[in-house]
Amino acid sequence: MEEIKCLILGSGPAGFTAAIYASRANLAPILYEGITPGGQLTTTTEIENFPGYPEGIHGTQMMDDLRRQAQRFGADVRTGIATHVDLSSRPFHVVVDGTKEFKADTLIIATGATAKYLGLPSEAKFRGMGVSACATCDGFFYRQKDVAVVGGGDTACEEASYLASICRQVYLIVRKPFLRASKAMQHRVLNTPNIKVLFEHNTAEILGDDNGVTGALLRDNHGVESTINIDGFFLAIGHHPVTELFVGQLDLNDEGYIKTRPGSSHTSVEGVFAAGDVKDPTYRQAIVAAGSGCMAALDAERFLLEQE
Ligand code: NDP
Repeated sequence: MEEIKCLILGSGPAGFTAAIYASRANLAPILYEGITPGGQLTTTTEIENFPGYPEGIHGTQMMDDLRRQAQRFGADVRTGIATHVDLSSRPFHVVVDGTKEFKADTLIIATGATAKYLGLPSEAKFRGMGVSACATCDGFFYRQKDVAVVGGGDTACEEASYLASICRQVYLIVRKPFLRASKAMQHRVLNTPNIKVLFEHNTAEILGDDNGVTGALLRDNHGVESTINIDGFFLAIGHHPVTELFVGQLDLNDEGYIKTRPGSSHTSVEGVFAAGDVKDPTYRQAIVAAGSGCMAALDAERFLLEQE
Protein backbone atom coordinates (compact mmCIF):
# COMPACT_ATOMS: atom_id res chain seq x y z
CA MET A 1 0.00 0.00 0.00
CA GLU A 2 1.48 3.35 -1.04
CA GLU A 3 0.40 6.44 0.89
CA ILE A 4 0.59 9.57 -1.21
CA LYS A 5 -0.58 13.17 -1.29
CA CYS A 6 -1.88 13.31 -4.82
CA LEU A 7 -2.95 10.65 -7.30
CA ILE A 8 -3.77 11.67 -10.87
CA LEU A 9 -5.72 9.40 -13.20
CA GLY A 10 -5.40 10.13 -16.91
CA SER A 11 -2.67 11.28 -19.27
CA GLY A 12 -4.21 13.78 -21.63
CA PRO A 13 -3.43 17.50 -21.46
CA ALA A 14 -5.51 17.78 -18.25
CA GLY A 15 -3.68 14.98 -16.40
CA PHE A 16 -0.18 16.05 -17.42
CA THR A 17 -0.84 19.73 -16.70
CA ALA A 18 -2.14 18.75 -13.26
CA ALA A 19 1.04 16.69 -12.80
CA ILE A 20 3.27 19.63 -13.77
CA TYR A 21 1.58 21.95 -11.28
CA ALA A 22 1.27 19.35 -8.52
CA SER A 23 4.94 18.39 -8.73
CA ARG A 24 6.04 22.00 -8.64
CA ALA A 25 3.88 22.42 -5.52
CA ASN A 26 5.76 19.50 -3.88
CA LEU A 27 2.74 17.20 -3.84
CA ALA A 28 4.90 14.39 -5.30
CA PRO A 29 2.07 13.23 -7.57
CA ILE A 30 1.80 9.78 -9.08
CA LEU A 31 0.03 9.78 -12.45
CA TYR A 32 -1.46 6.65 -14.01
CA GLU A 33 -1.72 6.89 -17.75
CA GLY A 34 -4.85 4.79 -18.25
CA ILE A 35 -6.03 2.88 -21.28
CA THR A 36 -4.77 5.37 -23.90
CA PRO A 37 -1.45 6.86 -22.75
CA GLY A 38 -1.46 10.44 -24.00
CA GLY A 39 -5.24 10.47 -24.37
CA GLN A 40 -7.38 11.41 -27.34
CA LEU A 41 -4.76 13.70 -28.91
CA THR A 42 -2.64 10.67 -29.75
CA THR A 43 -5.44 9.52 -32.05
CA THR A 44 -5.36 12.71 -34.13
CA THR A 45 -2.60 13.88 -36.41
CA GLU A 46 -1.34 17.46 -36.42
CA ILE A 47 -2.54 19.90 -33.74
CA GLU A 48 -2.60 23.40 -35.16
CA ASN A 49 -4.79 25.26 -32.67
CA PHE A 50 -2.81 24.86 -29.44
CA PRO A 51 -1.24 28.25 -28.69
CA GLY A 52 2.54 28.32 -28.81
CA TYR A 53 3.05 26.03 -31.81
CA PRO A 54 3.05 28.33 -34.85
CA GLU A 55 3.92 25.44 -37.17
CA GLY A 56 1.59 22.96 -35.42
CA ILE A 57 2.68 19.83 -33.60
CA HIS A 58 1.89 16.16 -33.91
CA GLY A 59 -0.49 14.94 -31.17
CA THR A 60 1.86 12.17 -30.05
CA GLN A 61 4.78 14.60 -29.90
CA MET A 62 2.82 17.07 -27.79
CA MET A 63 1.87 14.37 -25.31
CA ASP A 64 5.48 13.12 -25.12
CA ASP A 65 6.58 16.69 -24.42
CA LEU A 66 3.94 17.12 -21.70
CA ARG A 67 4.94 13.80 -20.13
CA ARG A 68 8.63 14.80 -20.08
CA GLN A 69 7.77 18.22 -18.68
CA ALA A 70 5.82 16.60 -15.82
CA GLN A 71 8.65 14.14 -15.16
CA ARG A 72 11.22 16.94 -15.14
CA PHE A 73 9.55 18.34 -12.02
CA GLY A 74 9.39 14.92 -10.39
CA ALA A 75 5.96 13.58 -11.33
CA ASP A 76 5.96 9.79 -11.15
CA VAL A 77 4.29 8.77 -14.41
CA ARG A 78 3.25 5.12 -14.50
CA THR A 79 1.50 2.76 -16.87
CA GLY A 80 -1.67 1.27 -15.44
CA ILE A 81 -5.42 1.53 -15.17
CA ALA A 82 -7.39 2.28 -12.01
CA THR A 83 -9.70 -0.67 -11.46
CA HIS A 84 -11.34 0.20 -8.15
CA VAL A 85 -11.88 3.38 -6.13
CA ASP A 86 -13.45 3.97 -2.75
CA LEU A 87 -14.17 7.65 -2.17
CA SER A 88 -16.29 7.13 0.94
CA SER A 89 -13.53 8.26 3.32
CA ARG A 90 -10.19 10.06 3.18
CA PRO A 91 -7.49 9.11 2.36
CA PHE A 92 -9.12 7.61 -0.71
CA HIS A 93 -8.50 3.98 -1.50
CA VAL A 94 -7.56 3.32 -5.12
CA VAL A 95 -6.54 0.03 -6.73
CA VAL A 96 -4.59 0.00 -9.97
CA ASP A 97 -4.49 -3.01 -12.31
CA GLY A 98 -6.37 -5.04 -9.74
CA THR A 99 -3.43 -5.37 -7.37
CA LYS A 100 -1.56 -2.14 -6.62
CA GLU A 101 -3.16 -0.28 -3.71
CA PHE A 102 -2.97 3.41 -2.81
CA LYS A 103 -4.15 5.66 -0.07
CA ALA A 104 -4.33 9.14 -1.57
CA ASP A 105 -5.03 12.40 0.28
CA THR A 106 -6.29 13.96 -2.95
CA LEU A 107 -7.44 12.47 -6.23
CA ILE A 108 -7.44 14.29 -9.56
CA ILE A 109 -9.64 12.61 -12.16
CA ALA A 110 -8.63 13.40 -15.74
CA THR A 111 -9.79 10.21 -17.41
CA GLY A 112 -11.24 12.06 -20.40
CA ALA A 113 -13.87 10.98 -22.85
CA THR A 114 -13.99 8.80 -25.88
CA ALA A 115 -15.76 9.63 -29.11
CA LYS A 116 -18.51 7.30 -30.15
CA TYR A 117 -17.93 5.47 -33.42
CA LEU A 118 -20.41 3.64 -35.65
CA GLY A 119 -18.62 0.34 -35.21
CA LEU A 120 -18.02 -0.44 -38.90
CA PRO A 121 -14.86 -2.44 -39.72
CA SER A 122 -14.03 0.03 -42.54
CA GLU A 123 -14.29 2.89 -40.03
CA ALA A 124 -11.61 1.29 -37.85
CA LYS A 125 -9.48 0.54 -40.91
CA PHE A 126 -9.41 4.16 -42.07
CA ARG A 127 -9.13 5.83 -38.66
CA GLY A 128 -6.45 8.51 -39.01
CA MET A 129 -6.56 8.01 -42.82
CA GLY A 130 -9.66 10.10 -43.47
CA VAL A 131 -11.84 8.97 -40.57
CA SER A 132 -11.79 11.39 -37.65
CA ALA A 133 -13.96 12.27 -34.68
CA CYS A 134 -12.71 15.86 -34.44
CA ALA A 135 -13.32 18.36 -37.23
CA THR A 136 -11.67 21.15 -35.24
CA CYS A 137 -8.49 19.05 -35.03
CA ASP A 138 -8.37 17.51 -38.50
CA GLY A 139 -10.67 19.58 -40.74
CA PHE A 140 -7.87 21.77 -42.02
CA PHE A 141 -6.34 18.82 -43.92
CA TYR A 142 -9.44 18.71 -46.12
CA ARG A 143 -9.27 22.24 -47.50
CA GLN A 144 -11.17 22.46 -50.78
CA LYS A 145 -12.05 18.78 -50.57
CA ASP A 146 -15.37 16.98 -50.08
CA VAL A 147 -16.19 15.53 -46.67
CA ALA A 148 -19.06 13.99 -44.72
CA VAL A 149 -20.16 14.46 -41.13
CA VAL A 150 -22.39 11.92 -39.35
CA GLY A 151 -24.84 13.07 -36.69
CA GLY A 152 -27.71 15.48 -36.23
CA GLY A 153 -26.87 17.14 -32.93
CA ASP A 154 -25.18 20.44 -32.10
CA THR A 155 -21.72 18.96 -32.47
CA ALA A 156 -22.45 17.60 -35.94
CA CYS A 157 -23.96 20.91 -37.04
CA GLU A 158 -21.09 22.91 -35.59
CA GLU A 159 -18.55 20.66 -37.25
CA ALA A 160 -20.41 20.73 -40.56
CA SER A 161 -20.48 24.56 -40.43
CA TYR A 162 -16.78 24.71 -39.60
CA LEU A 163 -15.92 22.29 -42.39
CA ALA A 164 -18.14 24.19 -44.84
CA SER A 165 -15.91 27.23 -44.32
CA ILE A 166 -12.84 25.34 -45.55
CA CYS A 167 -14.09 22.43 -47.64
CA ARG A 168 -15.76 22.37 -51.05
CA GLN A 169 -18.77 20.21 -50.22
CA VAL A 170 -19.99 18.88 -46.86
CA TYR A 171 -22.55 16.08 -46.60
CA LEU A 172 -24.34 15.85 -43.27
CA ILE A 173 -25.58 12.27 -42.79
CA VAL A 174 -28.57 12.23 -40.42
CA ARG A 175 -30.41 9.04 -39.52
CA LYS A 176 -33.68 10.77 -38.54
CA PRO A 177 -35.93 12.97 -40.74
CA PHE A 178 -34.95 15.96 -38.58
CA LEU A 179 -31.97 17.52 -36.82
CA ARG A 180 -31.72 17.29 -33.05
CA ALA A 181 -29.54 20.41 -32.86
CA SER A 182 -30.73 23.78 -31.53
CA LYS A 183 -32.90 25.85 -33.87
CA ALA A 184 -30.10 28.35 -34.47
CA MET A 185 -27.68 25.62 -35.51
CA GLN A 186 -30.30 23.99 -37.72
CA HIS A 187 -30.95 27.28 -39.44
CA ARG A 188 -27.25 27.80 -40.05
CA VAL A 189 -26.70 24.35 -41.49
CA LEU A 190 -29.80 24.36 -43.67
CA ASN A 191 -28.84 27.76 -45.08
CA THR A 192 -25.22 27.06 -45.87
CA PRO A 193 -25.04 26.47 -49.63
CA ASN A 194 -22.23 23.89 -49.56
CA ILE A 195 -23.79 21.72 -46.83
CA LYS A 196 -26.10 19.03 -48.18
CA VAL A 197 -28.16 17.36 -45.46
CA LEU A 198 -28.96 13.73 -46.21
CA PHE A 199 -31.89 13.00 -43.90
CA GLU A 200 -32.87 9.42 -43.14
CA HIS A 201 -29.52 8.07 -44.28
CA ASN A 202 -27.14 5.69 -42.57
CA THR A 203 -23.58 4.78 -43.43
CA ALA A 204 -23.31 1.20 -44.62
CA GLU A 205 -19.58 1.26 -45.36
CA ILE A 206 -16.68 3.68 -45.68
CA LEU A 207 -14.84 3.21 -48.96
CA GLY A 208 -11.16 3.75 -49.54
CA ASP A 209 -7.82 2.59 -50.84
CA ASP A 210 -4.20 2.54 -49.63
CA ASN A 211 -4.20 6.35 -49.48
CA GLY A 212 -7.28 6.60 -47.28
CA VAL A 213 -10.97 7.38 -47.60
CA THR A 214 -12.45 7.87 -51.07
CA GLY A 215 -16.17 7.63 -50.39
CA ALA A 216 -19.04 6.22 -48.38
CA LEU A 217 -21.79 3.79 -49.18
CA LEU A 218 -25.07 5.09 -47.76
CA ARG A 219 -28.41 3.41 -47.26
CA ASP A 220 -31.59 5.38 -46.80
CA ASN A 221 -34.45 4.31 -44.55
CA HIS A 222 -36.16 2.62 -47.51
CA GLY A 223 -33.09 0.47 -48.17
CA VAL A 224 -31.96 2.42 -51.26
CA GLU A 225 -28.17 2.56 -51.54
CA SER A 226 -26.07 5.41 -52.91
CA THR A 227 -22.41 6.41 -52.92
CA ILE A 228 -20.83 9.75 -52.14
CA ASN A 229 -17.25 10.64 -53.08
CA ILE A 230 -15.42 12.12 -50.11
CA ASP A 231 -11.89 12.44 -48.72
CA GLY A 232 -12.83 12.86 -45.06
CA PHE A 233 -15.44 11.16 -42.87
CA PHE A 234 -16.16 12.85 -39.54
CA LEU A 235 -18.03 11.24 -36.65
CA ALA A 236 -20.09 13.60 -34.48
CA ILE A 237 -22.46 11.20 -32.77
CA GLY A 238 -21.50 12.04 -29.22
CA HIS A 239 -18.87 11.18 -26.62
CA HIS A 240 -18.73 8.89 -23.60
CA PRO A 241 -17.02 10.33 -20.51
CA VAL A 242 -14.80 7.73 -18.87
CA THR A 243 -16.53 7.71 -15.49
CA GLU A 244 -17.73 4.13 -14.96
CA LEU A 245 -15.51 3.77 -11.87
CA PHE A 246 -17.14 6.72 -10.16
CA VAL A 247 -20.81 5.92 -10.66
CA GLY A 248 -22.56 6.08 -7.29
CA GLN A 249 -19.56 7.81 -5.66
CA LEU A 250 -19.47 11.23 -7.35
CA ASP A 251 -22.28 13.40 -8.68
CA LEU A 252 -22.47 12.91 -12.43
CA ASN A 253 -24.77 14.64 -14.90
CA ASP A 254 -27.33 12.75 -17.00
CA GLU A 255 -24.70 11.95 -19.62
CA GLY A 256 -22.21 10.69 -17.04
CA TYR A 257 -19.90 13.74 -16.93
CA ILE A 258 -18.50 14.60 -13.49
CA LYS A 259 -20.17 17.65 -11.97
CA THR A 260 -17.83 20.30 -10.60
CA ARG A 261 -18.55 23.36 -8.55
CA PRO A 262 -18.81 26.31 -11.00
CA GLY A 263 -15.48 28.01 -11.59
CA SER A 264 -13.50 25.27 -9.86
CA SER A 265 -12.48 21.62 -10.17
CA HIS A 266 -14.14 20.57 -6.87
CA THR A 267 -16.39 17.54 -7.25
CA SER A 268 -19.14 16.45 -4.87
CA VAL A 269 -16.50 14.75 -2.68
CA GLU A 270 -14.06 16.96 -0.78
CA GLY A 271 -10.51 16.19 -1.91
CA VAL A 272 -11.55 14.78 -5.29
CA PHE A 273 -11.02 17.08 -8.26
CA ALA A 274 -11.95 16.67 -11.92
CA ALA A 275 -10.26 18.15 -14.97
CA GLY A 276 -10.54 17.98 -18.73
CA ASP A 277 -13.09 16.24 -20.93
CA VAL A 278 -14.35 14.01 -18.11
CA LYS A 279 -16.12 17.09 -16.77
CA ASP A 280 -16.54 19.08 -19.99
CA PRO A 281 -19.32 18.14 -22.41
CA THR A 282 -19.13 21.51 -24.12
CA TYR A 283 -15.68 22.67 -25.23
CA ARG A 284 -13.61 19.46 -25.46
CA GLN A 285 -10.43 21.27 -26.52
CA ALA A 286 -6.87 20.44 -25.45
CA ILE A 287 -6.19 23.97 -24.32
CA VAL A 288 -9.31 23.99 -22.13
CA ALA A 289 -8.37 20.60 -20.67
CA ALA A 290 -4.86 21.83 -19.89
CA GLY A 291 -6.28 24.89 -18.15
CA SER A 292 -8.60 22.81 -16.05
CA GLY A 293 -5.72 20.45 -15.13
CA CYS A 294 -3.93 23.48 -13.74
CA MET A 295 -7.05 24.41 -11.75
CA ALA A 296 -7.31 20.89 -10.31
CA ALA A 297 -3.71 20.90 -9.09
CA LEU A 298 -4.08 24.35 -7.54
CA ASP A 299 -7.36 23.29 -5.89
CA ALA A 300 -5.70 20.13 -4.54
CA GLU A 301 -2.76 22.11 -3.19
CA ARG A 302 -5.07 24.60 -1.44
CA PHE A 303 -7.23 21.80 -0.09
CA LEU A 304 -4.19 20.09 1.48
CA LEU A 305 -2.99 23.38 2.99
CA GLU A 306 -6.41 23.88 4.57
CA GLN A 307 -6.28 20.39 6.07
CA GLU A 308 -2.94 21.02 7.79
P1 NDP B 1 -26.09 14.50 -29.23
O1 NDP B 1 -26.28 13.30 -28.41
O2 NDP B 1 -26.92 15.71 -28.98
O3 NDP B 1 -26.38 14.12 -30.77
C1 NDP B 1 -25.86 12.96 -31.31
C2 NDP B 1 -26.35 12.87 -32.73
O4 NDP B 1 -25.75 11.72 -33.30
C3 NDP B 1 -27.86 12.69 -32.83
O5 NDP B 1 -28.34 13.33 -33.98
C4 NDP B 1 -28.00 11.18 -32.98
O6 NDP B 1 -29.11 10.80 -33.72
C5 NDP B 1 -26.77 10.86 -33.77
N1 NDP B 1 -26.34 9.49 -33.60
C6 NDP B 1 -26.07 8.85 -32.44
N2 NDP B 1 -25.68 7.59 -32.67
C7 NDP B 1 -25.73 7.43 -34.01
C8 NDP B 1 -25.45 6.37 -34.88
N3 NDP B 1 -25.03 5.19 -34.42
N4 NDP B 1 -25.60 6.56 -36.22
C9 NDP B 1 -26.00 7.75 -36.71
N5 NDP B 1 -26.27 8.81 -35.94
C10 NDP B 1 -26.14 8.64 -34.61
O7 NDP B 1 -24.52 14.78 -29.18
P2 NDP B 1 -23.71 16.13 -29.47
O8 NDP B 1 -22.28 15.75 -29.35
O9 NDP B 1 -24.15 16.75 -30.71
O10 NDP B 1 -24.10 17.08 -28.26
C11 NDP B 1 -23.87 16.69 -26.90
C12 NDP B 1 -24.37 17.80 -25.99
O11 NDP B 1 -23.51 18.93 -26.11
C13 NDP B 1 -25.78 18.28 -26.37
O12 NDP B 1 -26.47 18.61 -25.21
C14 NDP B 1 -25.52 19.49 -27.20
O13 NDP B 1 -26.62 20.40 -27.20
C15 NDP B 1 -24.27 20.07 -26.52
N6 NDP B 1 -23.51 20.86 -27.46
C16 NDP B 1 -23.71 22.20 -27.44
C17 NDP B 1 -23.03 23.00 -28.30
C18 NDP B 1 -23.28 24.44 -28.25
O14 NDP B 1 -24.15 24.86 -27.51
N7 NDP B 1 -22.57 25.24 -29.00
C19 NDP B 1 -22.05 22.47 -29.27
C20 NDP B 1 -21.92 21.05 -29.22
C21 NDP B 1 -22.64 20.29 -28.34
P3 NDP B 1 -30.59 10.78 -33.08
O15 NDP B 1 -31.04 12.21 -33.04
O16 NDP B 1 -31.30 9.92 -34.06
O17 NDP B 1 -30.45 10.13 -31.73
